[in-house]
Amino acid sequence: MRDPLAALRLMRTVERPEQVFVRGQGSWLWDADGRAYLDFSQGWAVNSLGHSPNVLVEALKRQADALINPGPSFYNRGMLKLASRLCQVTGSDQVYFLNSGAEANEGAIKLARKWGRLHRDGAFRIVTATHSFHGRTLAAMSASGKPDFEELFEPKVPGFAKVPYNDLEALEAAVDEQTVAVMLEPVQGEAGVIPATLDYLQGVERLCRSRGILLILDEVQTGVGRCGALLAEELYGVRADIITLGKGLGGGVPLAALLARGNACCFEPGEQGGTYHGNALMTAAGLAVLNTVLEPGFLESVREASNYMRDGLARVSRRHGHGPLRGHGLLVGLPLIGQEASQVVAAALNEGLLINAPQSTCLRFSPALTVSHSNIDEMLKRLNRAFTLSKNKVAEV
Ligand SMILES: *Cc1c(COP(=O)(O)O)cnc(C)c1O
Repeated sequence: MRDPLAALRLMRTVERPEQVFVRGQGSWLWDADGRAYLDFSQGWAVNSLGHSPNVLVEALKRQADALINPGPSFYNRGMLKLASRLCQVTGSDQVYFLNSGAEANEGAIKLARKWGRLHRDGAFRIVTATHSFHGRTLAAMSASGKPDFEELFEPKVPGFAKVPYNDLEALEAAVDEQTVAVMLEPVQGEAGVIPATLDYLQGVERLCRSRGILLILDEVQTGVGRCGALLAEELYGVRADIITLGKGLGGGVPLAALLARGNACCFEPGEQGGTYHGNALMTAAGLAVLNTVLEPGFLESVREASNYMRDGLARVSRRHGHGPLRGHGLLVGLPLIGQEASQVVAAALNEGLLINAPQSTCLRFSPALTVSHSNIDEMLKRLNRAFTLSKNKVAEV
């Protein structure tokens, strides 16, 4: 299906299945042979409104016709509009736009270090969690607690301490005079969709306040409606000083944001920049996505779809002897018992269903926020078959 020689020209950073995808609409994708796939991954929770939604396509067309990129050192309308809307609806004071989640987290690390210079005697250490994932730039990898990263590309960027997630005592013990911030995901997505407990995240916020350090929440995966609220922090009743957004914000195009509140807004000219940052095309896309997510009833419909999907997934999981679901909203993990996740993912692909496996014992479901009940019903049928077939396969071996 793919040109094998052309595929060899791509650096081999991931093993891809052979399908070449050519078209998408809503929850469906088509490959070059015209076969249809139900997409419950959506580019790792990126296409928040599904594939090629009208509102996004129209916004991109209009903006591409008018102006793609005046350059980062000039204002454009999308940049200004998205900045004021995003600050207004998240209760933030300032925002900086970037191209990826990793870059946004790099920005958060720099902003925290700058704040440490101004307000905490040059403190620079950031406490993060084991099994966390903050992206693949060198500093974001250094901040991450993903075990696979440990040996890669040494030496890492110094200044990060890692503690077990959902363990407030461990976190408390790790904060010292040189600590400037705590940086956490409200739900550890790559670790297998592990949500923070309510007590933990509220305790972390209290700890940050009492020690006079910053709370950074990496909402690259959880933000922009994914968890059934605009930001996952709302589910916990906490307020971070710095929040990073990415993935769902652009609805499929590269857009990320670094949000700051209060005196965490401390960048000055010359301290942060990037050639594509805040470009007119991407910010127009972000505005179309954000306005859609904020339409009356949209987030309620996400929560409703979440309940419907979770009920169905829980039934299928029980039927096949797997574990209880984890996650919030439309970010759901299904822990497997006695079955390898990559085999289920491959069997699902065969059945025309796209899901992914952040861990070898966990499946992740991150459909479009606009996913319908009939999409969910069809997904459950295909998943059920994939479980049955992949189990039989193991039994044959
Ligand atoms: C995906 C992700 C990132 C990295 O985003 P990129 O756009 O791939 O750089 C960072 N943090 C979290 C929590 C993510 O899920």
